[in-house]
Amino acid sequence: MAEWIQGTVTDNMHWTENLYSLKIDADVDRFTAGQFTSLALDIDGERIARPYSYLSGPEQRPLEFFFYAATGGILSNAMLNLKAGDSIWLRKKANGFFTLNEVPDSNDLWMFGTGTGIAPFFSILSTGEPWQRFEKVVLVHGVRSNADLRYQDVIHAIKEKRGDQFQFRAFVSREEIPGTFFGRIPAAIADESLEDSLAMHLSPESSQIMLCGNPDMVKDTVEVLKQRGFKKNRRRTPGQITVENYW
Ligand SMILES: Cc1cc2nc3c(=O)[nH]c(=O)nc-3n(C[C@H](O)[C@H](O)[C@H](O)COP(=O)(O)OP(=O)(O)OC[C@H]3O[C@@H](n4cnc5c(N)ncnc54)[C@H](O)[C@@H]3O)c2cc1C
Repeated sequence: MAEWIQGTVTDNMHWTENLYSLKIDADVDRFTAGQFTSLALDIDGERIARPYSYLSGPEQRPLEFFFYAATGGILSNAMLNLKAGDSIWLRKKANGFFTLNEVPDSNDLWMFGTGTGIAPFFSILSTGEPWQRFEKVVLVHGVRSNADLRYQDVIHAIKEKRGDQFQFRAFVSREEIPGTFFGRIPAAIADESLEDSLAMHLSPESSQIMLCGNPDMVKDTVEVLKQRGFKKNRRRTPGQITVENYW
Protein backbone atom coordinates (compact mmCIF):
# COMPACT_ATOMS: atom_id res chain seq x y z
CA MET A 1 0.00 0.00 0.00
CA ALA A 2 1.24 3.50 -0.85
CA GLU A 3 2.12 5.68 2.11
CA TRP A 4 -0.27 8.24 3.60
CA ILE A 5 0.80 11.86 3.61
CA GLN A 6 -0.88 14.80 5.24
CA GLY A 7 -2.32 17.55 3.04
CA THR A 8 -3.74 20.94 3.97
CA VAL A 9 -7.12 22.11 2.70
CA THR A 10 -6.76 25.55 1.08
CA ASP A 11 -10.39 25.99 -0.02
CA ASN A 12 -13.75 24.25 0.28
CA MET A 13 -16.17 25.48 -2.38
CA HIS A 14 -19.78 24.60 -1.63
CA TRP A 15 -21.65 24.56 -4.95
CA THR A 16 -24.99 23.19 -3.72
CA GLU A 17 -26.22 21.52 -0.53
CA ASN A 18 -24.44 18.29 -1.49
CA LEU A 19 -21.87 19.24 -4.14
CA TYR A 20 -18.52 20.73 -3.22
CA SER A 21 -14.87 20.86 -4.26
CA LEU A 22 -11.74 20.83 -2.14
CA LYS A 23 -8.43 22.41 -3.01
CA ILE A 24 -5.56 20.73 -1.19
CA ASP A 25 -1.83 21.41 -0.85
CA ALA A 26 0.08 18.14 -0.58
CA ASP A 27 3.37 16.72 -1.74
CA VAL A 28 1.96 13.82 -3.77
CA ASP A 29 3.92 11.87 -6.37
CA ARG A 30 3.44 12.76 -10.01
CA PHE A 31 0.22 11.20 -11.36
CA THR A 32 -1.23 10.59 -14.80
CA ALA A 33 -4.34 12.58 -15.76
CA GLY A 34 -7.43 10.41 -15.17
CA GLN A 35 -5.99 8.61 -12.13
CA PHE A 36 -7.38 8.62 -8.60
CA THR A 37 -5.86 8.70 -5.15
CA SER A 38 -7.35 7.89 -1.75
CA LEU A 39 -8.41 10.61 0.66
CA ALA A 40 -9.00 9.88 4.32
CA LEU A 41 -9.99 11.40 7.65
CA ASP A 42 -9.59 9.90 11.10
CA ILE A 43 -13.15 9.60 12.39
CA ASP A 44 -13.82 8.21 15.90
CA GLY A 45 -10.32 6.74 15.99
CA GLU A 46 -10.61 5.02 12.62
CA ARG A 47 -9.06 6.09 9.33
CA ILE A 48 -11.92 6.25 6.81
CA ALA A 49 -10.56 6.23 3.25
CA ARG A 50 -12.22 6.30 -0.18
CA PRO A 51 -10.88 6.66 -3.74
CA TYR A 52 -11.24 10.07 -5.48
CA SER A 53 -10.30 11.10 -9.01
CA TYR A 54 -7.98 14.04 -9.46
CA LEU A 55 -9.87 16.90 -11.12
CA SER A 56 -6.70 18.98 -11.38
CA GLY A 57 -4.15 18.12 -14.03
CA PRO A 58 -0.71 16.69 -13.23
CA GLU A 59 0.83 20.16 -13.64
CA GLN A 60 -1.80 22.06 -11.65
CA ARG A 61 -1.52 23.13 -8.01
CA PRO A 62 -3.26 23.15 -5.60
CA LEU A 63 -4.71 19.68 -6.11
CA GLU A 64 -8.46 19.74 -6.70
CA PHE A 65 -11.26 17.18 -6.14
CA PHE A 66 -15.03 17.34 -6.80
CA PHE A 67 -17.42 15.65 -4.35
CA TYR A 68 -20.99 14.55 -3.87
CA ALA A 69 -22.04 14.23 -0.22
CA ALA A 70 -23.77 10.86 -0.50
CA THR A 71 -26.86 10.23 1.64
CA GLY A 72 -25.56 8.66 4.84
CA GLY A 73 -22.02 8.57 3.42
CA ILE A 74 -19.43 8.81 6.19
CA LEU A 75 -16.44 10.33 4.45
CA SER A 76 -18.15 12.54 1.87
CA ASN A 77 -20.26 14.20 4.61
CA ALA A 78 -17.28 14.62 6.93
CA MET A 79 -15.18 16.28 4.20
CA LEU A 80 -18.07 18.65 3.44
CA ASN A 81 -17.29 20.44 6.72
CA LEU A 82 -13.53 20.88 6.16
CA LYS A 83 -12.21 24.44 6.20
CA ALA A 84 -9.06 26.12 4.89
CA GLY A 85 -6.19 25.10 7.16
CA ASP A 86 -7.65 21.70 8.10
CA SER A 87 -5.62 18.53 7.53
CA ILE A 88 -6.58 15.59 5.31
CA TRP A 89 -4.79 12.34 4.48
CA LEU A 90 -3.90 11.43 0.90
CA ARG A 91 -2.12 8.45 -0.59
CA LYS A 92 1.17 9.75 -1.99
CA LYS A 93 0.95 7.56 -5.07
CA ALA A 94 -2.02 7.63 -7.47
CA ASN A 95 -3.74 4.60 -8.98
CA GLY A 96 -5.91 3.61 -11.88
CA PHE A 97 -6.05 2.95 -15.59
CA PHE A 98 -8.70 5.50 -16.64
CA THR A 99 -5.99 7.32 -18.55
CA LEU A 100 -5.40 8.18 -22.20
CA ASN A 101 -2.40 5.87 -22.47
CA GLU A 102 -4.91 3.00 -22.09
CA VAL A 103 -7.13 4.37 -24.90
CA PRO A 104 -6.30 3.34 -28.50
CA ASP A 105 -5.95 5.98 -31.22
CA SER A 106 -9.05 7.08 -33.12
CA ASN A 107 -10.45 10.09 -34.91
CA ASP A 108 -12.67 11.28 -32.07
CA LEU A 109 -12.75 10.92 -28.30
CA TRP A 110 -16.08 11.00 -26.42
CA MET A 111 -16.05 11.52 -22.65
CA PHE A 112 -19.25 10.83 -20.72
CA GLY A 113 -19.41 11.65 -17.00
CA THR A 114 -22.30 11.78 -14.56
CA GLY A 115 -22.23 14.02 -11.48
CA THR A 116 -18.76 14.18 -9.99
CA GLY A 117 -17.69 11.60 -12.62
CA ILE A 118 -16.72 14.52 -14.84
CA ALA A 119 -13.66 15.14 -12.63
CA PRO A 120 -11.04 12.94 -14.36
CA PHE A 121 -11.96 14.45 -17.72
CA PHE A 122 -10.96 17.94 -16.58
CA SER A 123 -7.61 16.51 -15.53
CA ILE A 124 -7.18 14.83 -18.92
CA LEU A 125 -8.33 17.92 -20.85
CA SER A 126 -5.78 20.09 -19.03
CA THR A 127 -2.97 18.12 -20.72
CA GLY A 128 -1.81 18.34 -24.33
CA GLU A 129 -2.45 14.70 -25.16
CA PRO A 130 -6.14 14.69 -26.18
CA TRP A 131 -5.58 17.68 -28.47
CA GLN A 132 -2.59 16.05 -30.16
CA ARG A 133 -4.16 12.61 -30.58
CA PHE A 134 -7.81 13.26 -31.49
CA GLU A 135 -9.33 15.42 -34.20
CA LYS A 136 -12.49 15.99 -32.14
CA VAL A 137 -13.04 15.78 -28.39
CA VAL A 138 -16.60 15.65 -27.01
CA LEU A 139 -17.33 16.11 -23.30
CA VAL A 140 -20.80 15.13 -22.04
CA HIS A 141 -21.97 15.82 -18.48
CA GLY A 142 -25.11 14.17 -17.08
CA VAL A 143 -26.65 15.62 -13.90
CA ARG A 144 -29.98 15.69 -12.08
CA SER A 145 -30.50 19.44 -11.69
CA ASN A 146 -29.24 22.51 -13.50
CA ALA A 147 -27.44 23.60 -10.30
CA ASP A 148 -25.28 20.46 -10.55
CA LEU A 149 -23.72 21.66 -13.83
CA ARG A 150 -20.52 23.03 -12.29
CA TYR A 151 -17.17 24.09 -13.81
CA GLN A 152 -18.86 25.93 -16.68
CA ASP A 153 -16.03 28.52 -16.54
CA VAL A 154 -13.48 25.74 -17.16
CA ILE A 155 -15.57 24.40 -20.04
CA HIS A 156 -15.83 27.88 -21.59
CA ALA A 157 -12.07 28.36 -21.27
CA ILE A 158 -11.42 25.03 -23.05
CA LYS A 159 -13.86 26.01 -25.80
CA GLU A 160 -12.13 29.40 -26.22
CA LYS A 161 -8.74 27.72 -26.50
CA ARG A 162 -9.66 24.70 -28.64
CA GLY A 163 -12.49 26.04 -30.85
CA ASP A 164 -14.27 23.43 -32.98
CA GLN A 165 -11.95 20.64 -31.85
CA PHE A 166 -13.93 20.65 -28.58
CA GLN A 167 -17.68 20.17 -28.07
CA PHE A 168 -19.67 20.07 -24.83
CA ARG A 169 -23.20 18.82 -24.20
CA ALA A 170 -25.12 18.69 -20.92
CA PHE A 171 -27.90 16.34 -19.84
CA VAL A 172 -30.25 17.32 -17.02
CA SER A 173 -32.53 14.47 -15.99
CA ARG A 174 -34.99 16.18 -13.62
CA GLU A 175 -35.48 19.66 -15.09
CA GLU A 176 -36.11 20.96 -18.58
CA ILE A 177 -33.35 23.52 -19.16
CA PRO A 178 -32.98 25.29 -22.52
CA GLY A 179 -29.74 24.39 -24.30
CA THR A 180 -29.40 21.05 -22.49
CA PHE A 181 -30.76 17.57 -23.13
CA PHE A 182 -33.68 16.56 -20.90
CA GLY A 183 -33.22 12.93 -19.87
CA ARG A 184 -30.50 10.34 -19.82
CA ILE A 185 -27.37 9.82 -21.89
CA PRO A 186 -28.06 6.22 -23.09
CA ALA A 187 -31.44 7.24 -24.58
CA ALA A 188 -29.85 10.04 -26.62
CA ILE A 189 -27.25 7.61 -27.97
CA ALA A 190 -29.94 5.05 -28.81
CA ASP A 191 -32.06 7.58 -30.78
CA GLU A 192 -28.93 9.35 -32.14
CA SER A 193 -30.18 12.77 -30.98
CA LEU A 194 -26.83 13.48 -29.29
CA GLU A 195 -24.95 12.84 -32.53
CA ASP A 196 -27.49 14.89 -34.53
CA SER A 197 -26.93 17.86 -32.23
CA LEU A 198 -23.17 17.64 -32.79
CA ALA A 199 -23.33 16.75 -36.50
CA MET A 200 -21.02 13.84 -35.60
CA HIS A 201 -21.36 10.07 -35.83
CA LEU A 202 -20.36 7.51 -33.21
CA SER A 203 -18.72 4.52 -34.87
CA PRO A 204 -16.35 1.77 -33.65
CA GLU A 205 -14.02 2.56 -36.58
CA SER A 206 -13.52 6.21 -35.65
CA SER A 207 -14.58 6.78 -32.01
CA GLN A 208 -13.15 6.03 -28.57
CA ILE A 209 -15.46 6.37 -25.56
CA MET A 210 -14.65 6.98 -21.88
CA LEU A 211 -17.45 6.56 -19.30
CA CYS A 212 -17.21 7.61 -15.66
CA GLY A 213 -19.47 7.89 -12.64
CA ASN A 214 -22.84 6.32 -11.88
CA PRO A 215 -22.69 2.57 -12.60
CA ASP A 216 -26.24 2.60 -14.04
CA MET A 217 -25.24 5.19 -16.65
CA VAL A 218 -22.06 3.20 -17.39
CA LYS A 219 -23.95 -0.11 -17.75
CA ASP A 220 -26.79 1.28 -19.88
CA THR A 221 -24.43 3.26 -22.12
CA VAL A 222 -22.19 0.23 -22.64
CA GLU A 223 -25.32 -1.74 -23.58
CA VAL A 224 -26.49 0.72 -26.30
CA LEU A 225 -22.95 1.07 -27.64
CA LYS A 226 -22.51 -2.72 -27.84
CA GLN A 227 -25.65 -2.86 -29.98
CA ARG A 228 -23.81 -0.53 -32.37
CA GLY A 229 -20.71 -2.73 -32.57
CA PHE A 230 -18.56 -1.15 -29.83
CA LYS A 231 -16.51 -3.37 -27.50
CA LYS A 232 -15.06 -2.87 -24.01
CA ASN A 233 -11.42 -1.78 -24.15
CA ARG A 234 -9.16 -4.21 -22.34
CA ARG A 235 -5.39 -4.47 -22.41
CA ARG A 236 -5.43 -7.95 -23.98
CA THR A 237 -8.37 -7.23 -26.27
CA PRO A 238 -8.41 -3.55 -27.23
CA GLY A 239 -11.82 -2.05 -27.92
CA GLN A 240 -13.47 1.35 -27.83
CA ILE A 241 -15.15 1.65 -24.40
CA THR A 242 -13.03 2.48 -21.32
CA VAL A 243 -14.92 2.73 -18.01
CA GLU A 244 -14.57 3.89 -14.39
CA ASN A 245 -17.43 3.05 -12.01
CA TYR A 246 -17.65 5.22 -8.86
CA TRP A 247 -19.55 2.63 -6.81
C1 LIG B 1 -12.01 5.07 -8.79
C2 LIG B 1 -13.03 5.90 -8.02
C3 LIG B 1 -12.96 7.29 -8.08
C4 LIG B 1 -13.92 8.05 -7.38
N1 LIG B 1 -13.88 9.41 -7.50
C5 LIG B 1 -14.83 10.17 -6.90
C6 LIG B 1 -14.84 11.60 -7.07
O1 LIG B 1 -13.98 12.19 -7.74
N2 LIG B 1 -15.84 12.29 -6.45
C7 LIG B 1 -16.80 11.67 -5.69
O2 LIG B 1 -17.69 12.37 -5.17
N3 LIG B 1 -16.81 10.33 -5.53
C8 LIG B 1 -15.85 9.58 -6.09
N4 LIG B 1 -15.84 8.22 -5.90
C9 LIG B 1 -16.78 7.65 -4.91
C10 LIG B 1 -16.13 7.77 -3.50
O3 LIG B 1 -15.01 6.90 -3.43
C11 LIG B 1 -17.08 7.41 -2.34
O4 LIG B 1 -17.75 6.21 -2.64
C12 LIG B 1 -18.13 8.47 -2.06
O5 LIG B 1 -17.54 9.73 -1.74
C13 LIG B 1 -19.04 8.07 -0.89
O6 LIG B 1 -18.25 7.81 0.24
P1 LIG B 1 -18.89 7.86 1.68
O7 LIG B 1 -17.96 7.32 2.69
O8 LIG B 1 -19.42 9.23 1.97
O9 LIG B 1 -20.18 6.93 1.55
P2 LIG B 1 -20.27 5.37 1.29
O10 LIG B 1 -20.95 4.76 2.45
O11 LIG B 1 -18.94 4.81 0.88
O12 LIG B 1 -21.24 5.35 -0.01
C14 LIG B 1 -22.62 5.60 0.09
C15 LIG B 1 -23.30 5.48 -1.27
O13 LIG B 1 -23.19 6.71 -1.95
C16 LIG B 1 -23.36 6.53 -3.34
N5 LIG B 1 -22.25 7.26 -4.01
C17 LIG B 1 -20.91 7.03 -3.90
N6 LIG B 1 -20.21 7.92 -4.63
C18 LIG B 1 -21.11 8.75 -5.20
C19 LIG B 1 -20.99 9.86 -6.06
N7 LIG B 1 -19.79 10.31 -6.48
N8 LIG B 1 -22.12 10.48 -6.48
C20 LIG B 1 -23.34 10.04 -6.07
N9 LIG B 1 -23.52 8.97 -5.26
C21 LIG B 1 -22.42 8.33 -4.82
C22 LIG B 1 -23.35 5.04 -3.59
O14 LIG B 1 -24.70 4.60 -3.73
C23 LIG B 1 -22.77 4.49 -2.31
O15 LIG B 1 -23.18 3.18 -2.06
C24 LIG B 1 -14.92 7.42 -6.59
C25 LIG B 1 -14.95 6.03 -6.53
C26 LIG B 1 -14.04 5.26 -7.23
C27 LIG B 1 -14.13 3.76 -7.16
